[in-house]
Amino acid sequence: MPAQLIDGKTLAAQVKSEAAAACAALRQKGTVPCLAVVLVGEDPASQVYVRGKVNDCAQCGIESREHRLPASTTQAELLALVGMLAQDPAVHGILVQLPLPAHIDEQAVISAIPPEKDVDGFSPLNVGRMQLGQPCCLPCTPAGCLRMIESTGTDIGGKNAVVVGRSNIVGKPMALLLLAKNATVTVCHSKTQDLAGICRRADILVAAVGRQGFITGDMVKPGAVVIDVGINRGADGRLHGDVDFAAAAEKAAYLTPVPGGVGPMTRAMLMGNTVAAAARQSGLSL
Ligand code: NDP
Repeated sequence: MPAQLIDGKTLAAQVKSEAAAACAALRQKGTVPCLAVVLVGEDPASQVYVRGKVNDCAQCGIESREHRLPASTTQAELLALVGMLAQDPAVHGILVQLPLPAHIDEQAVISAIPPEKDVDGFSPLNVGRMQLGQPCCLPCTPAGCLRMIESTGTDIGGKNAVVVGRSNIVGKPMALLLLAKNATVTVCHSKTQDLAGICRRADILVAAVGRQGFITGDMVKPGAVVIDVGINRGADGRLHGDVDFAAAAEKAAYLTPVPGGVGPMTRAMLMGNTVAAAARQSGLSL
């Protein structure tokens, strides 16, 4: 039986409407949630992402401030801006769009964002808090993936979950979130042996590799929940995931499409994180 689609657009709309309702409640109490988005350089994909985030803010009633800096911006200049936003009590979330130009140390910039304003969940303190299971701002992509898995009604506890990819922004935090839900988690990467065999045992399979069609149909366990994080521009000029969609759809119980899957959820989770950050900084509950 073909897999059921996990519709990222519909779920994202739900998450954004929750954020909008929470934002309206905060505004009534005198707090206007505000996200500062910093873009350095002219990377076309980054420009699209930033525009999308600003539009999402407008939809949710969140104020946004865009800071566009030239590619020649020095690390000291960028750190000065982040420092200024960190001090500004009207700004609740700071998002520095990655990747940054090669001459800037990304980790130094991320570390300069105060953890309470780190709505991407990338700062060392937030990463540590997540690892310890303490309250923190969760990184948007893996948190969105988790919500998509949960939307299927799957009981994650005790399931074999396989995450392909171990990046700091997707693979590793995804594995931690699944572990926190009591899955038995395996993380695969470029040095993994028998990757296909490991994937075939996955009740929950998350692909975050960055290679079009990397997960083939024979790597999918019948009845699995398959989450495709990959965004790859194909030779046809269109966006494709890491999963061979048509083949996986024949085996999986649930599958996310690309586009229209994890991407919209990532953006929606950012809105939720921003409103939650505003509430915490104002001492208000949602
Ligand atoms: P990275 O390039 O940082 O990480 C890729 C991971 O895949 C690495 O851990 C790498 O292993 C692993 N990998 C590469 N080749 C193989 C292989 N042959 N076998 C097994 N593992 C392999 O990518 P990201 O995590 O940042 O992103 C992954 C994908 O997700 C990209 O397509 C990106 O565009 C997309 N993405 C989508 C988002 C969304 O909102 N939908 C958000 C963020 C990313 P190793 O560590 O050994 O090198």
